[in-house]
Amino acid sequence: MNKQTFKKFISVFLLIVLVMIPELNVCAAERVFPKDDNLVIVIDPGHGGTDTGTQGGRIQERFMNLITAQALVERLNMYEGVTVYMTRFDNDTTISLTDRAKFAKSVEADFVFSIHYNACYAHDRFGIEVYTSRISPYNGYGYQFGNLLMQRFESEFGIFPRGVKTRKGLKTEGDYYTIISANVYREIPAVIIEHCFADGTVDAPFTRTGDQLRDYGRTDADAIAEFFGLKSSVLGIDHTGPSDDLVYADTSSFNDATYEDRTAPDEVSISVKSIDPVSNTVTIVISATEADGMMMFYALSTDGGWTWQESKPWPGADTYNGTFDGSFELTLPFENGYRPTIVIKGFNRYDAFTKSEPVTFLERFNGSDTPLYRTGTIYGG
Ligand SMILES: [Zn+2]
Repeated sequence: MNKQTFKKFISVFLLIVLVMIPELNVCAAERVFPKDDNLVIVIDPGHGGTDTGTQGGRIQERFMNLITAQALVERLNMYEGVTVYMTRFDNDTTISLTDRAKFAKSVEADFVFSIHYNACYAHDRFGIEVYTSRISPYNGYGYQFGNLLMQRFESEFGIFPRGVKTRKGLKTEGDYYTIISANVYREIPAVIIEHCFADGTVDAPFTRTGDQLRDYGRTDADAIAEFFGLKSSVLGIDHTGPSDDLVYADTSSFNDATYEDRTAPDEVSISVKSIDPVSNTVTIVISATEADGMMMFYALSTDGGWTWQESKPWPGADTYNGTFDGSFELTLPFENGYRPTIVIKGFNRYDAFTKSEPVTFLERFNGSDTPLYRTGTIYGG
């Protein structure tokens, strides 16, 4: 090919590439929910009346949920083409979960979002999680929405994403949570949003003020708008186009990322990498294997498991992709005269944990000599 033809060839080639670029840009997944022009959304502030929800926060959960839900509804009403209802509004009444679903059916709801705050017995959990149905296509709807929401909570507030999850009913193959099963029974998709832990020491800074609870409601509304592809002239937000934040979700079968893993991690272990006897520090390597799930967080004890330090995210824990670092290092400083016994609890995405064998120091740190220690049956130091 001569120079002229080559130039022509290049320019045609570039033209083709340029034409293709907008196409290539659309790496975002399709919106999975088949929206029509009359979108009807029901916002369900969880609990209410005699059902208080968790009491672990500053105020009872029923009030936290209402504060968040009211801000959510106010914001969602600023979007066009959507009608929004609440199962309970300014009142604090007791409504059964089935009655909430019946109400959703009566207004021909397209989707129910149930608003909650989390709590746990050990007060050591943190982050946002979304529960979706085990049944298709509802499973896929909730999975795509939940991922969208978690991304926003992580980037806007620094709240840890715990994942989009499912929970199997005790006697059925269906869903454990009635607000999900009673709606799905009526062919209405429903999700539970557990915004963060009201009682957790790690999440405590996230539920200090009413403004924070209202911020979460507004972010819920924006995520809902993005999920359905809504726009708001008042807010100057337009989600009618494709979105890069949408993950691919399967609506014809169960999404594996929402698999409920109730078995403990396969193995969690610690080994001593190095000891600095002068600064009284130990560097340990923590490793874990978890074939049917992922590691999500860990807790450390230096007194053999009597007390546990505040739990922390497992390094590399990525709930969007189900991946985590197989091992990581920690350097622990000790007081002069201390004789630690180090234990790690590694938790998976469903809070099941495996405890490591302890690293037991047989001598105290004294600022000069390397103390002897024992890991399982291995002696070192
Ligand atoms: Zn709740």
